[in-house]
Amino acid sequence: MNIIDCKEIKNSILEELKSKLDSLPKLKLVVFEIGNDPASSIYVKNKQKMCEELGIDFDLKKYDSISEEDLINEINICNNDKSVTGILVQLPLPKELNEKRVIESIDYKKDVDGLTSTNVGNLTLGNPSLVPCTALGIMKILKYKNIDIEGKNVVLVGRSPLVGLPLIPLFLKENATVTVCHSKTSNLKDVTNKADILVVAIGKKEFITDEYIKENSVVIDVGINRDNNKIYGDCNFDSIKDKVKYITPVPGGVGVMTVTMLINNLIEAYFLQN
Ligand code: NAP
Repeated sequence: MNIIDCKEIKNSILEELKSKLDSLPKLKLVVFEIGNDPASSIYVKNKQKMCEELGIDFDLKKYDSISEEDLINEINICNNDKSVTGILVQLPLPKELNEKRVIESIDYKKDVDGLTSTNVGNLTLGNPSLVPCTALGIMKILKYKNIDIEGKNVVLVGRSPLVGLPLIPLFLKENATVTVCHSKTSNLKDVTNKADILVVAIGKKEFITDEYIKENSVVIDVGINRDNNKIYGDCNFDSIKDKVKYITPVPGGVGVMTVTMLINNLIEAYFLQN
């Protein structure tokens, strides 16, 4: 078993990003945070901290509540503001707001979460696009560790727009054979047992145990499940650690990469606009 040190990977990528930032004008990220979700506030603070450390302007537009029309108007102002490089709407939005409509109002060239239909379509077709940060972070982890992808059986458990869905084209581009599982998949264990690379993003604390795992496989645990002030993955680390070749820990795993990839996307967004 080899625990993947995602902090080391993050630091290495950050060095590259810093030198790119040095050659660019000051970038600016605008984040919209609506409502009072404690987890969202933690994620936003992490983004703010990273931007401040890197000399990126960070503008937080926080509302306890706002109408859909007003929010879309605010986003449009940022779309048209040349000083804004990237726009991010922290999800989930309160139920009364139509998430798809709000996301769709972001200029795809400033959509640093890669969630607009233009970016999703471009990614699917293999065109240049902004890629959802977590999915991109997972690919960077595998690349950094020189893990073979071509010809491998990759099983994705979870098909959300943030993780599972964008990983389909990303793994296909690397010539993997990709299988996608979800809550209606029958005989999940039979499918996951064929995975050379297993990516789990379901939001169920320690759901995946050794019975789901192929010997010597690579397991990427995306889950962040809070319970009694502790964070757990979607995989039961102790149960599977001796069966796998590589595993990402939780905490200190995929989550460490996600904010770094946001900076990557901000730089990409700058080049899409200039
Ligand atoms: P999500 O939108 O709730 O999607 C969950 C996915 O898992 C859905 O596709 C669902 O299937 C599937 N699923 C649920 N229960 C299942 C089961 N028993 N068997 C098989 N599939 C099942 O969640 P998400 O946003 O992708 O997040 C998933 C987890 O990753 C959460 O713990 C989240 O906190 C974490 N996360 C971490 C990061 C990071 O930076 N580390 C980033 C994003 C998310 P259906 O489609 O059929 O409903």
